Amino acid sequence: MTKVGFVGLGNMGGPMAKNLLQQGFELKGYDIVPQLLDEAVKLGAVACDSAKDAATDVDVFISMLPASKHVQNLYLGDEGVLSCLQPETLVIDCSTIAPTVSQEVSSAAKKIGIAMIDAPVSGGVGGAVAGTLTFIVGGGSAPLEQARPLLEAMGSNIFHAGESGAGQVAKVCNNMLLSVLMAGTAEALQLGVDNGLDPAVLSEIMRKSSGGNWALEVYNPYPGVMDGVPASREYEGGFLVDLMIKDLGLAMESALAVGASTPMGALARNLYVNHSKEGHGRSDFSSIQQVYNKSDA
Ligand code: NAD
Repeated sequence: MTKVGFVGLGNMGGPMAKNLLQQGFELKGYDIVPQLLDEAVKLGAVACDSAKDAATDVDVFISMLPASKHVQNLYLGDEGVLSCLQPETLVIDCSTIAPTVSQEVSSAAKKIGIAMIDAPVSGGVGGAVAGTLTFIVGGGSAPLEQARPLLEAMGSNIFHAGESGAGQVAKVCNNMLLSVLMAGTAEALQLGVDNGLDPAVLSEIMRKSSGGNWALEVYNPYPGVMDGVPASREYEGGFLVDLMIKDLGLAMESALAVGASTPMGALARNLYVNHSKEGHGRSDFSSIQQVYNKSDA
């Protein structure tokens, strides 16, 4: 049976680990938050008291951490896990981080004979719980094929974007587009409402017209239009504004690195940063609607 070490049992990592356990993988887990570890243990995971412990004697090691610095520390820091992984262990980092950091960690792993892929995800907490995530993979084909049974246990779409770091580049492009379309959708909805339209009627018209997009299909930002989305529960849960800001920062860094022009992404980042400064950093990113309708704020 495949033995898995899993570090980072938060909003995404927790349900991902649960799906692996339910599909029969043996799992050793670690998180700096003890309650999260307790929840994983109730589902059948073995509790570890350090990341190094979770990386010892496993076939596959998975990380799902907030940002670049956490991933750098986990693998390359003073207590870095690269030193205790066996050469045959496959490493899968699912965190959304800078492509350059993915490449740095992957090349340090390669030097000691360890294969690593970057496999950031799309699909949010709902997708993590349902096991329907999209994995966007960067790295070699052989480690991707080795990882496939685990990725299939946690998701339903697997894309190979290219070499190491390419998964992160594709993920950052997607999230930059997502931020732009969410802000644009909120802006259009508010324009209609301020001119006397019913937001539900306008949403349906635009959904079926040339403005149709993912937000209008499944993630409407206007309160009361769609059931079961963050807009209908005061923007709680979902994908945090502060995580979107992190991803837009990665997009800006990636643009600067190659001299790409990203005016829409820069504008969306500024909208989200100001929104966070007004106290909405821990709200779902569709709460950008409140920037346009201050009476809802
Ligand atoms: P989260 O903050 O809920 O989970 C991260 C977990 O890592 C936390 O439980 C934290 O305690 C743990 N952690 C931090 N440092 C650690 C360390 N040194 N050792 C062990 N555990 C440590 O975040 P999340 O929402 O699960 O997001 C994780 C990643 O997935 C991020 O990179 C995010 O951008 C990405 N992502 C999130 C979503 C979403 O909808 N939440 C969607 C797609 C991608």
